[in-house]
Amino acid sequence: MNTFHYRNHALYGEDLPLQEIAERYGTPCYVYSEAALRERYHSFSTALGGNTQVCYAVKANSNLSILRLFAEMGAGFDIVSAGELERVLRAGGDAGKIVFSGVGKSSVEIRAALNAAISCLNVESAAELWRIADIAADMGKRAPVALRVNPDVDPGTHHYIATGLKESKFGIPMEQARDLYLQAAQHPALELKGIACHIGSQLLDLTPLGEAAARVRALYDELAADGIALQHLDLGGGVGICYHDETPPNPADYAWTLEQALQGLEVRRVVELGRALVGNAGVLLTRVEYLKDNGSKQFCVVDAAMNDLLRPALYGAWHDILPLHQSAEATQPMDIVGPVCESGDFLAKDRPLAAKAGDLLAVMSAGAYGFAMSSNYNSRPRPPEVLIGGHQHRLIRRRERLDEQWALEENPGR
Ligand SMILES: *Cc1c(COP(=O)(O)O)cnc(C)c1O
Repeated sequence: MNTFHYRNHALYGEDLPLQEIAERYGTPCYVYSEAALRERYHSFSTALGGNTQVCYAVKANSNLSILRLFAEMGAGFDIVSAGELERVLRAGGDAGKIVFSGVGKSSVEIRAALNAAISCLNVESAAELWRIADIAADMGKRAPVALRVNPDVDPGTHHYIATGLKESKFGIPMEQARDLYLQAAQHPALELKGIACHIGSQLLDLTPLGEAAARVRALYDELAADGIALQHLDLGGGVGICYHDETPPNPADYAWTLEQALQGLEVRRVVELGRALVGNAGVLLTRVEYLKDNGSKQFCVVDAAMNDLLRPALYGAWHDILPLHQSAEATQPMDIVGPVCESGDFLAKDRPLAAKAGDLLAVMSAGAYGFAMSSNYNSRPRPPEVLIGGHQHRLIRRRERLDEQWALEENPGR
């Protein structure tokens, strides 16, 4: 699908020249394509079939309008905080399709989840399991839980986003999981719903995903033999996307890999996809402020920075940089950097560009972990978010005003 593309040398999002968006809403500005969001959700849910609930991992992009769009398409949600729970409920999400992940759920968050009657809490330690049991007992409820196991497979991704290795803080070691299930089964305030796992993010190779699913399946079979009948297997997320020249798994191959690992098993499945649903559906528009030549290097200083899009600074991540207008002029390699006072504040390095001051650029594949990781560092207001569909555009979050940054602070001398 060709959501962002050139027509007569101008970069379009669907049927809109992106320059119109930049002029109307200013820069920096996030732009998301509704057609791309719908297409991605539809492809995965269709490929995986009716026995699989696709849960959108809210942390990738938690804008209410995007949550609502997925909710209307039938998505469930994978949340990691009480804030995300509240967002999903406000966006019309079905609590009965919410799974709650994360290693550090607070008592307040556990209560909120039980009050909302979510589908399942994915438990990450024995200590957390017993805390959930105590809280549920206190509330006179049964807590629906799955243990998030750590299948100890190497997903072959950046070590900051590998979560299924032995040394990772996530999940419960496979060897301990069975014992814990047997103990949990005795507790009247716990309802054992399933098994969960999630091995990492931006996974390009399906083999580890299949391996993890097979290990989860083996545990399911073992527990069934112990008399513990579970209702679902949550196989996590992490399906990668193309940022540069990667070949990510397509939905059909992904579905086939899971099917192979779970062959013959009728039990319901859950997947938790974030990046694969939203990553390529968004771009960050930015304007060139200055060109700067320090003798050995050319810099293109733009008005977006690491506070708007952290991934390059945090992971050294690659994002394509495209001019909104293709020019015939000769390109030269430049570092595309923001105004923030950190040498780590770059969006891209050594890219051939023919940019000049005032030009508009698009930072591609910025729909996932873009706005969601943005901050006010350097007291910069966070950028607006715009949703486009066909010829239409709609502001789904306005640019922050400066005074909103200190609205919660005391200013004693005043
Ligand atoms: C982050 C996360 C996801 C989503 O990861 P993506 O790489 O965006 O698909 C799914 N499940 C859990 C538990 C997560 O922490």
